[in-house]
Amino acid sequence: MGTQRLKIKNQLNYRRGYTHKHCSDCDHYLNMPIKGIGGENLGIQPRCKIIGTKPGRMYRVHPENICDAFDGSKKLKMLRPAWLANKND
Ligand code: SF4
Repeated sequence: MGTQRLKIKNQLNYRRGYTHKHCSDCDHYLNMPIKGIGGENLGIQPRCKIIGTKPGRMYRVHPENICDAFDGSKKLKMLRPAWLANKND
């Protein structure tokens, strides 16, 4: 018996990502410390601000997956100065 799938993952068409576009490039992606029910430290785990940041395993997102709410605009903006700098070379 596996972990039950969250309804929101189906609603957002959460699936395997692409080489150039996946959760770890998304502005909603977080690597955050997770605590178990008894307060034990479960380490740093991937979560998504849209899907939810609760400790349960069903809230885990895979860095190489993607969903329809993907937004990489902030990360792209952070890269822009480097591109402009390269243009002036
Ligand atoms: S919004 Fe979608 S693509 Fe972005 S981190 Fe969450 S699950 Fe991944």
